[in-house]
Amino acid sequence: MVTETMRDFIRNETRERFLRYVQVYTTSDEESPTTPSTERQFDLARMLEGELRELGLKEVHCDEHAYVYATLPARDAAEGAPAIGLVSHMDTSPDQPGENVKPIRHEDYDGGVIRFPDDPELTLSPDDSPELTCFEGETIITASGKTLLGADDKAGLAEIMAALAAWQRFPELPHGEIRVCFTPDEEIGRGTVKLDLERLPFYCYTMDGEAPGDIETECFDAWRADLVFKGIGVHPGYAKDKMINAAAVAGRFLAALPEWEAPEHTADREGFYHLVSLEGNFENAKASWIIRDFEEAGNARRIEHLKTLIRAFESRYPGLSIELNVRHQYQNMRDIIREHPRAVELAVKAIEDAGLEPRLKSIRGGTDGSALTQKGHPTPNLFAGGFLFHSRKEWIAESSMVKGTETLLHLGARWAREPGK
Ligand SMILES: [Zn+2]
Repeated sequence: MVTETMRDFIRNETRERFLRYVQVYTTSDEESPTTPSTERQFDLARMLEGELRELGLKEVHCDEHAYVYATLPARDAAEGAPAIGLVSHMDTSPDQPGENVKPIRHEDYDGGVIRFPDDPELTLSPDDSPELTCFEGETIITASGKTLLGADDKAGLAEIMAALAAWQRFPELPHGEIRVCFTPDEEIGRGTVKLDLERLPFYCYTMDGEAPGDIETECFDAWRADLVFKGIGVHPGYAKDKMINAAAVAGRFLAALPEWEAPEHTADREGFYHLVSLEGNFENAKASWIIRDFEEAGNARRIEHLKTLIRAFESRYPGLSIELNVRHQYQNMRDIIREHPRAVELAVKAIEDAGLEPRLKSIRGGTDGSALTQKGHPTPNLFAGGFLFHSRKEWIAESSMVKGTETLLHLGARWAREPGK
């Protein structure tokens, strides 16, 4: 279905769009209370809005919170074939600088060490990222050493835009109705807070995963726990049998948690407690954790363990009080997606159609897709093709973006053949 001519077109479209989008400064900011968290995200939102209009899409709209929406009506689709939503985020992670990104194309990559002109100390090689060896002889794109690249998730944007351009350019490609939505503030966990769900169809896909072929249908079940330790402050010269030092007790409490259940000691399907902050003095101390597991029961056990420790510490130090505040942050999207298996089945087929091997994976985190799934729109996450996200070594192969777009073209065709209910 996808011819060589189409592939050349897609190669140019993805490359040019990607190089253009990464140069727009869109770092989000956790400290900011507004949506978008940074005004600069409008620069990319308006650029995309203009490009969607140029492509002739319908219902193109950039709202006051920098969400960009557009619709591509169905072509040669079965009667009542379901529409699908394609979602990518425009912001980049505040973990690394994202201003003045200078993308560099490393043509004919030799399989060895890649150097960065703006930081001679920094190198990228298969030691950092074994996947590099799959792309020998190809073109790799990195930043220049001072910033992240922003393939997370501007590769997703470029692939979706290139798919739309291809659908418009080649009328022989069938597709159901496609609705796109580009979001701000995904990296700070607020990508869907102002999203107008009415504009999205039932089935959606985020284009925000890593290696070509990956499809993610599972994410963490996520909790936050804040503990406040209230001690008893007394003049230290006369404190015998009276003082309870809140900060010292908090330290002993931390030491009582299993060291091996921390992010630095866990991988794959293992869950953890992650101490995100600790502050205090002898009268008051505060410790905050995020608690993660793929299974709700695993997190329930961890929260129960905190409660048991609290009781033990309060009886060990009479007069001490420990306040616990737990909050559910997001849930594993697996159970909802399982009820709607077509979303995953057709994505798996589309990945195969694009000549890739589909790999079902779990996200050790959350995405816009996990929030959307929770809000009633089953949203698996498809690969966008980048690696080493949120770092100055972030990289992507140009061929991965071509595969990303091809996967979307096949996905559109698969859904177009799907009979309506
Ligand atoms: Zn992302």
